[in-house]
Amino acid sequence: MDVERFPATRESAQRRLADFLPACARYSGTRNRVLTGHDDVSRLSAAIRARLVTEEEVVREVLATHPFGPVEKFIQEVFWRSYWKGWLQLRPAVWTTFRRRVEHLRREAPEPVRRRAEEVAAGRSGVAVMDRFARELLGTGYLHNHARMWWASFWIHVEGLPWELGADHFQRHLLDFDPASNTLSWRWVAGLQTPGKTYLVRRSNLEKFAAPELLADATGIGRLDDDRVRAVVVEEHADTRPSSLAERPERPGESEVATGLWIHEEDGSVELSSLAALRNPILLHIGIPPADADDEPGPVARVWRDRAVGDAWGRANAHFDPDRWENCAGDGGDSLAQTLAGLAGEHGFRRLVSAELAVGPLADQRDEIRKALADEGVEWIEVRRPWDAALWPLARKGFFDFWDRVGRRLRKTCEGTSVLEVLR
Ligand SMILES: Cc1cc2nc3c(=O)[nH]c(=O)nc-3n(C[C@H](O)[C@H](O)[C@H](O)COP(=O)(O)OP(=O)(O)OC[C@H]3O[C@@H](n4cnc5c(N)ncnc54)[C@H](O)[C@@H]3O)c2cc1C
Repeated sequence: MDVERFPATRESAQRRLADFLPACARYSGTRNRVLTGHDDVSRLSAAIRARLVTEEEVVREVLATHPFGPVEKFIQEVFWRSYWKGWLQLRPAVWTTFRRRVEHLRREAPEPVRRRAEEVAAGRSGVAVMDRFARELLGTGYLHNHARMWWASFWIHVEGLPWELGADHFQRHLLDFDPASNTLSWRWVAGLQTPGKTYLVRRSNLEKFAAPELLADATGIGRLDDDRVRAVVVEEHADTRPSSLAERPERPGESEVATGLWIHEEDGSVELSSLAALRNPILLHIGIPPADADDEPGPVARVWRDRAVGDAWGRANAHFDPDRWENCAGDGGDSLAQTLAGLAGEHGFRRLVSAELAVGPLADQRDEIRKALADEGVEWIEVRRPWDAALWPLARKGFFDFWDRVGRRLRKTCEGTSVLEVLR
């Protein structure tokens, strides 16, 4: 797997961002083309997802290089990510309902549906271009945004398969898997996210935007003919009303109490956050076993994430130079909660600090972790990044309402004002 192509370290992500900066101004005209090398897009999504580089840094660098107008489209895409995160934070039930539906469908979907889902996911649908995308995902952990839209639409509206099983397949194989961007994009293609709007894959659109070599084998393409593809009506199972955002501090606060600092996959640059100020913390990282064997990430995604978290761990170690640390595999049969509570007993810390767990697989374990730590007399402080604190509350309505407010403020960014300052 090419960890330079899809940067898995902070250094390589910064290099990729610097290389991509000149192309940002052309992005609005080129971003929809699906080329085999993906040179028209940044390929930074996994690095941003893992916070090896942050959204804030990306936006800051782009605006330091270009005036707002020519790069608005690129910046807007980065903010789509923050918007989706906020939208899901405000509606955690959408995530839990999705995961419950996946478990239900894995057990209860009729055998022919499960078999067909496996065939399509493995790249054996019989539509050559879609099978090529399926194999690309399995082989590289990446698909261009347009290919993701086509493939998800093919899955739902041409194959008639449950969207939840397709989203779960992406979840296990994308290097950049994000609970918000992934689940909500699949819901959008299915017609659930924006009522009345469904995304339909169409042959004419593929012929316009896909590189000719992707269409050289035309086997099965007739199934994507514009007049053949019809929207499937997908049932809503989730409660999508926004709730209030959980309160979290933006700083860990001063304390004399022995403190553990938990480095996890949600934030790969704690040394550049407010957590950097912690004095002599006991540094912890725990490999996270999947809740269920069926949730196991694919081999390519696993290698990428190990590399990324190794990089984050190395930088945190260099910053804190800790007297004590634990980096354990987490595969000894104990749950994450038991391991963290065990480490608190072993190292005698009474306070655990970490970056916030945003809605997703890790946060699903929050209650169990909190209880296990409380039983050991340990207080757990999850710290929210100021970026998230500024943006998540704005995701109560649609993206264009969000962008109206954010874009207006960003246009005011000028020398001497930080992006974050104008957003707050
Ligand atoms: C069905 C489906 C599933 C998706 N699942 C994920 C996912 O799990 N994780 C994920 O990060 N993105 C997901 N996306 C969004 C998007 O496809 C990827 O972020 C993008 O293709 C990543 O490539 P890039 O870094 O070259 O993006 P660029 O085009 O270079 O965009 C720059 C950055 O903006 C953000 N971004 C771009 N497009 C979107 C978008 N539509 N939504 C949210 N953020 C965006 C990413 O952080 C990206 O790195 C999904 C889209 C679809 C249609």
